[in-house]
Amino acid sequence: MNLLAVDPVHPDPGAIAHAAEVLRRGGLVAFPTETVYGLGAHALDPEAVARIYAAKGRPSYNPLIVHLADAADAAALASEWPEAAERLAAAFWPGPLTLVVPRRPEIPDAVTAGLPSVALRVPAHPVAHALLRAAALPVAAPSANRSTGVSPTTAGHVARSLGDRVELILDGGPTSVGIESTVLSLVGEIPTILRPGTLSVDRLREVVGEVATLADAPGGKAARPSPGMLDRHYAPRAEVRLYDAGDARAEGEPAQARTAVMAWGPGPHPPGELVRMPADAREYAARLYATLHRLDEAGFDRIRVERVPDTAEWAGVRDRLRRAAHPG
Ligand code: AMP
Ligand code: MG
Repeated sequence: MNLLAVDPVHPDPGAIAHAAEVLRRGGLVAFPTETVYGLGAHALDPEAVARIYAAKGRPSYNPLIVHLADAADAAALASEWPEAAERLAAAFWPGPLTLVVPRRPEIPDAVTAGLPSVALRVPAHPVAHALLRAAALPVAAPSANRSTGVSPTTAGHVARSLGDRVELILDGGPTSVGIESTVLSLVGEIPTILRPGTLSVDRLREVVGEVATLADAPGGKAARPSPGMLDRHYAPRAEVRLYDAGDARAEGEPAQARTAVMAWGPGPHPPGELVRMPADAREYAARLYATLHRLDEAGFDRIRVERVPDTAEWAGVRDRLRRAAHPG
């Protein structure tokens, strides 16, 4: 593994050219995006894509998001580019929105898990953007961590999770958004959020009108069109449980367990080492994974997390917390 520090706003062209060369010859490069660090590979090279799955221990039924330098490059990978895609791209790209559209046949099955659709995103981070421009390739990039673990928001998190499984890590400092992109499917009749992020359903509706969320889908989970939506995901080593403020009883805690309590409200909170979280959804998202990584490293056995509000802007954080707390 080779860790290369780059300026997050004006990355050194030499470092970017080197990383682009690694991608072009089929190697894995971890790089910062505004959401989390990605583990990138040449998306049209099936052997390179296979290296992503091997490095992460990712199940082959979990498709990858393909990253592009601009909307025109994204549209070139779609067999249909609906009017809604055009409007969403104009409104939110570059940025933390992934669009699922019908795929072109040259995209390897390994990228889409055999689906007839492909997930596309134009990231805003200057390092990601420079790398995509220099490589002049579509880059498949899931989060740069072992499958089901907490996603990395720093290069250090990547190095600790993947170490020698990645050829090069571009260190552009901590990421700003902090949780993964909003994934919106444009394949059905109504645009549908497959994974919530920091870009809320309300903002999407302003641009394309009706937008469904998976929770509204008939049959709920059974009908989910996104095979990668694992119930347990984003989970630290410590056991995570959610609580409501006021419900401060410590239910059956073994005395020896070291407990941390992540709280955003006034309380009361359960016993344990109190970690103050922001009461603003965006700020909370930006800190969430870094906090989970830090508590794992500090050796806590249990993390009690105060439930977050049931509103649209908290949907991304709520989804990650629910899955971090999912047993087994
Ligand atoms: P990750 O790469 O871990 O950030 O996750 C990518 C997520 O995007 C997957 O877990 C899926 O939920 C979703 N996704 C990617 N490609 C598709 C696709 N073709 N159809 C539906 N969902 C997709
Ligand atoms: Mg991931």
